[in-house]
Amino acid sequence: MRKIIVALDGLSGCGKSTTAKLCAEKLGYIYIDTGAMYRATTLYFKQHFIDITNPKAITQALSNIQITFHFIQKLGCTQTFLNGLNVEDEIRKMYISEMVSEVSAISEVRKHMVALQQKMGKKKGVVMDGRDIGTVVFPDAEVKIFMRADDEIRAFRRQQELIEKKQIVDLDEILANLKKRDLIDSTRSDGPLKKAEDAFVLDSSYMTLDEQVDYVINLVNSKIINSIKLDEQKRISFLDV
Ligand code: C5P
Repeated sequence: MRKIIVALDGLSGCGKSTTAKLCAEKLGYIYIDTGAMYRATTLYFKQHFIDITNPKAITQALSNIQITFHFIQKLGCTQTFLNGLNVEDEIRKMYISEMVSEVSAISEVRKHMVALQQKMGKKKGVVMDGRDIGTVVFPDAEVKIFMRADDEIRAFRRQQELIEKKQIVDLDEILANLKKRDLIDSTRSDGPLKKAEDAFVLDSSYMTLDEQVDYVINLVNSKIINSIKLDEQKRISFLDV
């Protein structure tokens, strides 16, 4: 079966990661959570007191950061590792959410991450979620989706995720953080959050997870079928000549 790139961008907390993860599982693709990469970088900057106004310090720090994803059999899911340490739980905490958009807006950071992400998706067969995947990382991705959801619904869902991780955070605090991140993410000059012109919009506000996954899988399947048909037509017209 031919493999493609699925780019899933959108607002913070609208369910991109969960949908992308399940779609990758169904398709037998690799799932890449680019938000986790920016979060892990933020954690490193915080732990090493990196001055984010100092480009030299940033470049030096980036050269010391290794981010990897590993499937953990015991947990049945993929986790994020920073320099060999599992940081999955740490990077989801509020103090990282509070700082991540400032770190992600730094051009040196974006350039570094985009190059890594392009390398990871080179062989295709990936579902990548983020903010700039369909616009900057893979502008030629075969399927692009831009996800959104109503503010209160996003905040409520994020609160439930945090509760599952035994973190109790006030709904208003979560809502304020989501809005703040959306604002910084969409107004930065480098790789801003925006819908690619050829992206499909998926509003997950009133959709079940299964419906969201089906929506994406249907788009992927029809894209693959169309490209096979197109190749077949090209082959036939070549034989006719
Ligand atoms: O996806 P998640 O909410 O975990 O992303 C955390 C933050 O990482 C975002 O708010 C954004 O600032 C940054 N990010 C980004 N570009 C991406 C993915 C995430 O700037 N491709």
